[in-house]
Amino acid sequence: MIIAPIFYIFTHLFLPISPVTAIVPIAKTNASDSLVKYVYLTFDDGPLFGTSNCIDICTNQKMPVTFFEVGRHQAMSAKSKALYTRILQNESLFVIANHSYTHANSKYKYFYRHPASAFNDFMKSQSSLQVKNNIIRLPGNSAWNTTVLKKASGLVKPVVHKLDSAGFNIIGWDVEWGFDKNRNPKEMPQEVVNLMDSAFTHNHNATKNHLVLLMHDHMFRNPADSAKLVSFIALLKSNPHYQFRKITQYPGLINGGR
Ligand SMILES: [Zn+2]
Repeated sequence: MIIAPIFYIFTHLFLPISPVTAIVPIAKTNASDSLVKYVYLTFDDGPLFGTSNCIDICTNQKMPVTFFEVGRHQAMSAKSKALYTRILQNESLFVIANHSYTHANSKYKYFYRHPASAFNDFMKSQSSLQVKNNIIRLPGNSAWNTTVLKKASGLVKPVVHKLDSAGFNIIGWDVEWGFDKNRNPKEMPQEVVNLMDSAFTHNHNATKNHLVLLMHDHMFRNPADSAKLVSFIALLKSNPHYQFRKITQYPGLINGGR
């Protein structure tokens, strides 16, 4: 699927050429800083089914990504520990960050209404995963806490405050590639790219010109859906203004993300 580059070529082939534009440059060819769009791809809830495909595809595509890992999933089996080690060993492309130990046991209200035990849950994951940064994503909640971003709902505010006092960043997401009831990708790759372009255009991101995309490892556990991830990355790479970053490179992190 290389629709975008072909479209790009065609629109440029059929631009009207006048004698004036042929001689006098009418626009700078260098993309100015304001045209650069920083994209942070993130995968949540691993190591799980699908994690192996995410690792393979992003390694082959040389795509920097962040894995927000669940401590309990990593500790579950020798296989999940091996997946975690594969991520850990590719430091040039991958970052592992903390997504709690229990994932709130999927009982989010109870979890956040007990901020002391929720805080301990994140600390347990931090040590069991041996996370090398101070970056957390809350389970089931898109809150933000950096030196400049302070966004938290009333429910999560108490634990966010505790984590902030302990020097942790919290990273939410700007756009999600969602999944259906079978846990397969809900949107086609081009639809996700359209959502991202719209968020950039309308300045809907937490930080202007920086977009954090949420995906889940389990969405890419079969070959057909893995192919969608490959297509998606090809579409992203066809946009000359996109630059890809790991979450440790996000602007304004407390203590530089360490
Ligand atoms: Zn999650």
